[in-house]
Amino acid sequence: MKRITIIGGGASGTLTATNLLKLAGERPVHIDLVEKRSRIGRGVAFGTTRDAHLLNVPAGRMGAFPDDVGGFHAWLVANGHDFDDHAFVPRRIFGAYLRDTFETAAASANVSIELHDDEAVDMSVDDSSAQVMLRSGEVLQTDKVVLAFGNFAPPDPNVKDTSFAASPRYFKDPWNDDLYSSLNPDDEVFVIGTGLSMVDVAIQLNASGHRGKISAISTRGLLPEVHELGHSYPAFNDELDGASRITDIFKTVRKHTIKAEQDSNWRAVIDNLRPVTQKLWLDLPLAEKRYFKQHLSRYWNIARHRVPPEANAILRKMQADGRLEILAGRLRDIKYDDRFSVTYSNNGVEYVQSADVLVNCIGSETNFSRIDSEFVRNLVARRHIRNDELDLGIMASPDGRVFGKNDEYSDIVWTLGTALKGTLWETTAIPEIRTQARELALKLLAD
Ligand SMILES: Cc1cc2nc3c(=O)[nH]c(=O)nc-3n(C[C@H](O)[C@H](O)[C@H](O)COP(=O)(O)OP(=O)(O)OC[C@H]3O[C@@H](n4cnc5c(N)ncnc54)[C@H](O)[C@@H]3O)c2cc1C
Repeated sequence: MKRITIIGGGASGTLTATNLLKLAGERPVHIDLVEKRSRIGRGVAFGTTRDAHLLNVPAGRMGAFPDDVGGFHAWLVANGHDFDDHAFVPRRIFGAYLRDTFETAAASANVSIELHDDEAVDMSVDDSSAQVMLRSGEVLQTDKVVLAFGNFAPPDPNVKDTSFAASPRYFKDPWNDDLYSSLNPDDEVFVIGTGLSMVDVAIQLNASGHRGKISAISTRGLLPEVHELGHSYPAFNDELDGASRITDIFKTVRKHTIKAEQDSNWRAVIDNLRPVTQKLWLDLPLAEKRYFKQHLSRYWNIARHRVPPEANAILRKMQADGRLEILAGRLRDIKYDDRFSVTYSNNGVEYVQSADVLVNCIGSETNFSRIDSEFVRNLVARRHIRNDELDLGIMASPDGRVFGKNDEYSDIVWTLGTALKGTLWETTAIPEIRTQARELALKLLAD
């Protein structure tokens, strides 16, 4: 009997388990799936209960399996949901689909699976197996471990005095639903970050009739771009073959986005890069990746990870009504004394803004040596994982073998999804995760 333990029951862990169930056939396999939040298939993104929180990928492309990308839309139709395949569906419905897909696979598989409503807190690894310790005291003996721990709460803002963080009106984790129930409708809200998590916060506050002003800041004050579907652009990926400088890639992409202005759309140019993004990243020297992370990633992120038109329309209306203000600048200081007082600077000028509530939407912490999790701290201390060279995730091979204690890529400990960001760059969305989950399941079964 091969034993496989998956830690994390968000999209990555659930899809890995579902693929194992579907592909195991008659092989004698036992799966332990450990999820501390007791909601399989939900995780951070799909655990929201709010209808205002939409998928940022159209329904027709959100299928759970790489050979069935239309599967989510077919499931919507079969389950009486009235959305077409271009629709941006509430994320909570996608969570229900992942759970249903998992349960359907479990019902027909010849594999034993145990769900643990528990938290992994430690792990030991020897030459051929591993032991995973759970908070309850249970110890799982296993042949393979999949670290599918996904997104961690953002780091605190980088200011000298962080005493403000003790305030009950500071929300370090923007994905915690308590945020919405504890606000007064007239509270002035200051959001650090202007990306997709800030969009979630603003859109939900709008939906709940929030009246207080919302201000959001990032270094350049850039909002994610909006989706415009239905455009195509001829493939140009051969022009990028062998590219080893990020500026050369940038120039080629720029040339095509300008050309696309005539009879297409720059979004189609960016979307054309999707199948080759990981390869381009893998081929770049480390210094080029660093340059990209520092100088270009913010532009890539807003162009590549776009918001649905519905969300964009709400944001623009909120801006026009003066209910949402997007600021550009660097944070200098945050004080709390009944209210927050936030100092930021732009072009050498300092500004101070006050607010009742502070929400941290900086983005998931990716530096594993700083992550606030007992499990991660133990893994780092025992050298079962270490940061990749860019502090974007953990060091691992492109197929997910974790670089472990013996200074080699492990056959026992594997990962996928967000933890592979330094290795693959684009690895956090379902279209990438579903492929990784399928390939990982095949490897675990074949090994
Ligand atoms: C707000 C938000 C919205 C997004 N929207 C989209 C979208 O519309 N479309 C899209 O394709 N992608 C979206 N993404 C990207 C998203 O990261 C992935 O699609 C996917 O949800 C990631 O799943 P995951 O399982 O890797 O991580 P997570 O969702 O973070 O799940 C990890 C799970 O592991 C559990 N866990 C962690 N540590 C332990 C432990 N020690 N013991 C037990 N359990 C543990 C956590 O409780 C969690 O449930 C979004 C991301 C965010 C943050």
